[in-house]
Amino acid sequence: MKREPVKSGELAADKRVEGFDEVVAAYSEEQALSESGRCLQCKNPACISGCPVNIDIKEFIFQVTRKDYAGAYFTIRKTNNFPSICGRVCPAEYQCRKACVLNKSKLAYASSEAINIHFLERFVGDYGMQHDLKVLEEKDIGLSKIKAAVVGSGPAGLCCAGELARKGIKVVIFENLQSCGGVLRYGIPDFRLPDEVLDYEINCLKDLGVEFKTNVVVGKTILLNELFQQGFDKVFLGLGAGVPSFLGIKGENLCNVYSANEFLTRVNLMSAYKFPEYHTPVNIGEHILVIGGGNTAMDAARSALRLQKMNGIKPEVSIIYRRTETEMPARRLEIEHAKEEGIKFKFLTQPQEFQADDKGFVAFLSCLECKLGEADSSGRRKPVALPGSDFEIECDLAIIAVGLRANQLLSAVTPGLKTDEHKDLLVDKETMQTSLNGVYAGGDIVGGEGTVIEAMGMAKRAAKAIIRSVKIN
Ligand SMILES: Cc1cc2nc3c(=O)[nH]c(=O)nc-3n(C[C@H](O)[C@H](O)[C@H](O)COP(=O)(O)OP(=O)(O)OC[C@H]3O[C@@H](n4cnc5c(N)ncnc54)[C@H](O)[C@@H]3O)c2cc1C
Repeated sequence: MKREPVKSGELAADKRVEGFDEVVAAYSEEQALSESGRCLQCKNPACISGCPVNIDIKEFIFQVTRKDYAGAYFTIRKTNNFPSICGRVCPAEYQCRKACVLNKSKLAYASSEAINIHFLERFVGDYGMQHDLKVLEEKDIGLSKIKAAVVGSGPAGLCCAGELARKGIKVVIFENLQSCGGVLRYGIPDFRLPDEVLDYEINCLKDLGVEFKTNVVVGKTILLNELFQQGFDKVFLGLGAGVPSFLGIKGENLCNVYSANEFLTRVNLMSAYKFPEYHTPVNIGEHILVIGGGNTAMDAARSALRLQKMNGIKPEVSIIYRRTETEMPARRLEIEHAKEEGIKFKFLTQPQEFQADDKGFVAFLSCLECKLGEADSSGRRKPVALPGSDFEIECDLAIIAVGLRANQLLSAVTPGLKTDEHKDLLVDKETMQTSLNGVYAGGDIVGGEGTVIEAMGMAKRAAKAIIRSVKIN
């Protein structure tokens, strides 16, 4: 008999839009055992090379089949510091699951659907969290006098800090916001990644001796060279890509046109949905448009719809995208969830101009219809606007989610810190060292907008290089 894939439980769509509770439920032990039992334990497991940090997926799934959950946790932790986070947010369908041989399998006894590696990873990660399994410190006495400054507390910064602290290096994280976690805190909403999961990982770092200094903008509050003057031997820059891109069309500066970053930060970090109990407000419209097709657009749209429900407004949120669903970069699961929750999609639609009401608030978006043309450098077919196809959409709140870029604040004031044509930091790909000696970097500030696991992969490479360099000197 064919073994069918085990789906995770989910909050019903009409219940989940009532608030910010987590949508996807964890596997039960029974579900994890059943799903792990589908793994073919391939001789040459392609899934491992599909993972940006090469988790030994075959081994950890085998350990799950043996109910050795602690063993599975430590197997994952060898290469991935935050399994509970990645099990929730990794775009597995483009990474490990894409490489799973079951995708193409015609085996009579196996379903042709990839193993749900991410759900198993979350099961194991949550087991580790619930049992407070700590990864052993490998303190090296020789390193205890070394001090490292980590700038930015997103997944790159947290991961690098953990790797260094485990070896006994004294680490201080400098973060410009009031809370730590980067996009994991201010971008990804609680219904995908609850704060408790992130808080647990941050507390583990504190247990390792990592110190956190919030509300410090490196490049303004303190300069990079001043960190060295204060006695830090090495610096890691995990600054992320926090500057939103805009459409560059008329009316983008009208009231109630937000960047997705601002909108999500107000909601997630400043608890704007609890205004006036919390001090930061956020305007919620009746006809909300979100422009973009990535994870940020999905998160903004789904958050906005929840806020309409919570404020007693009839939900009406549409996503405007220039291409079709096939070209959308968002995780498939998020697109499905958005549809289930009642978000509408307007594909092949190019925004032209926001128009105002008589008080200067956005009232309409004029658009052109598009068709798909030739593929561009990203391999996706380019949208081509159709002249004369103009139409208008009613809109009293618009959220722009069309990409993020590097913040140049630090590179602009740091002589010798070289950037590329996108203003991302230039690094040696092997050591992640920047153009400045002793200064390393990783995450979105290096490759542009990427994924959580890619950011962590770079941070681990940097940490290894830092440890190697201090051991040599
Ligand atoms: C809304 C949204 C949803 C996403 N969803 C997913 C998803 O589902 N799955 C996935 O894999 N990826 C997702 N991503 C992408 C992923 O979150 C990023 O690739 C990842 O967070 C990059 O990590 P980072 O550590 O490089 O940067 P960030 O997470 O951006 O963290 C950088 C940190 O550095 C701080 N900082 C910046 N400059 C300074 C300074 N000068 N001084 C002090 N501190 C500074 C910032 O405040 C921030 O806290 C999403 C991104 C967004 C915006």
